[in-house]
Amino acid sequence: MNVGTGGRSDSNRLLIFDTTLRDGEQSPGAAMNIDQKLQVAQQLERLKVDIIEAGFPNSSPGDFAAVNAIAESVETVTVAGLARIWPDEDILRAADAVSAAKKPRIHTFVGTSPLHRDMVSWAKTPQEILERAVYAVQMAKSFVDDVEFSPMDASRTEKEYLADIIAATIEAGATTINVPDTVGYATPEEWHALMQWLYARVPSLHDVVLSVHCHDDLGMATANSLAAVRAGARQVEGCINGIGERAGNASVEEIATAVRLRGDAYGVWTGVDHAQIYRTSRLVSQLTGMLVQPNKAVVGANAFAHASGIHQDGVLKDPRTFEIIDAAEVGAEQKLVLGKLSGRHAFRQRLEEMGYKLADDDFRRAFTRFKQLADKKKDITDRDLESIVADEVRLASEAFKLEHLQISSGTNVRPTATVRIAFEDGATREAAATGDGPVDAAYRAINDIVRTPNKLEEFRVQEVTAGIDAVGEVNVRVRRDEHLASGHGADTDILVAAAKAYLNALNKLVALSANPRVKPEDSAAVAAAGGTP
Ligand code: MN
Repeated sequence: MNVGTGGRSDSNRLLIFDTTLRDGEQSPGAAMNIDQKLQVAQQLERLKVDIIEAGFPNSSPGDFAAVNAIAESVETVTVAGLARIWPDEDILRAADAVSAAKKPRIHTFVGTSPLHRDMVSWAKTPQEILERAVYAVQMAKSFVDDVEFSPMDASRTEKEYLADIIAATIEAGATTINVPDTVGYATPEEWHALMQWLYARVPSLHDVVLSVHCHDDLGMATANSLAAVRAGARQVEGCINGIGERAGNASVEEIATAVRLRGDAYGVWTGVDHAQIYRTSRLVSQLTGMLVQPNKAVVGANAFAHASGIHQDGVLKDPRTFEIIDAAEVGAEQKLVLGKLSGRHAFRQRLEEMGYKLADDDFRRAFTRFKQLADKKKDITDRDLESIVADEVRLASEAFKLEHLQISSGTNVRPTATVRIAFEDGATREAAATGDGPVDAAYRAINDIVRTPNKLEEFRVQEVTAGIDAVGEVNVRVRRDEHLASGHGADTDILVAAAKAYLNALNKLVALSANPRVKPEDSAAVAAAGGTP
């Protein structure tokens, strides 16, 4: 269904700025390693978003490396790096990190509300902050043409001051002005009125792209973003599955779907390839461990399920009775694609159709996994393949991985697990342990080998595909002091999936402890309200 979108022109093109890899990755436990970030970036390119915010280069060496690698790997999409307006190092590192991109952007920001200004230690007056913002934009502009400026916590900033700093940064060369509702406080009516007021008060705003960055603390991120679009905003910032700081950001898939389906209401269009939406959602969920709620709009497991008899009957007669989104349009239908007899060529071809280009090593391992799965499961779907690819590409980058797992359990048996783990240097170590249950036994044995103190905070099992031969997924969250890491594992054997998920999380935990982010005390501005726009 595509209602009354009218003509497509540059003036009604809505740019999608995806910050899954920056704001989304700041969700507790959602940290990804560089290979996982590259995988997400490549999928975002297939989804055809316009801008990928790849990270905050000066926040950690890991972030810098990831932004740099993404800048080198994507072809068509703009790659943005985030930078505070102070110190200089932020802009310099961001410029360096995005320099390899075909379309580089520097996104610089400062907290402008009274609360955030009070947190700034390097300036005393609003005027000093404004002047520093101008300096930072000019400095960014000396490296790239494409500069975005965000007055963080705009929704709680005095309107006159907000207008002044926006006018000054446009004058300094900013090409996108992003107005963040950093704490998710705005209402759609207020937000619409504020954008209209800014256009009236700052005439030069018509010469640049107005953007919004809305958070979902009151469940209004998508509504607020769209209210701004109606007032003239032509860029929205959001994350896949609406992940992000606290309650998350506006969800990219909701915004793209809403403007496509309700072109009559919004009069804009995006470049998004809708058939990639579901796959992108699944990949981000698997790699971040941020599970999608079943009733989530557009991508939730129940979004296309009809339990009530009347609804089922209606949908069978004519899907439009109770469905405004066709599962196929977002790529959510389950295709039976391959089976036991499918060979290497068919497997490679299907992966390529899905957009995956695997290195030879990854391909070999993925194909072996596919054959093993095909022996156990009659029909292999796209979702099974996604699961295999996500697993195999991830495993390639892990410092230690599961080599062998044997578990005995049952009634009147003390559950016992034997685990062998292979380390990066080629060494393997084995341990056996007993536990209250088979998973407990396996985790104890893993802990004996890996020796990373941790506390298991969450353990969840779910099916990937329906049926008794289904691939099962396990998601875990583990904590060590202030570090929280999530892990994901998939296998037809749920105990194997559980062991993989735990090892995946421990791998991330070890990496996080070795490579911490900017600590809040490093910058009072970063400490406030989650720290970034
Ligand atoms: Mn944010």
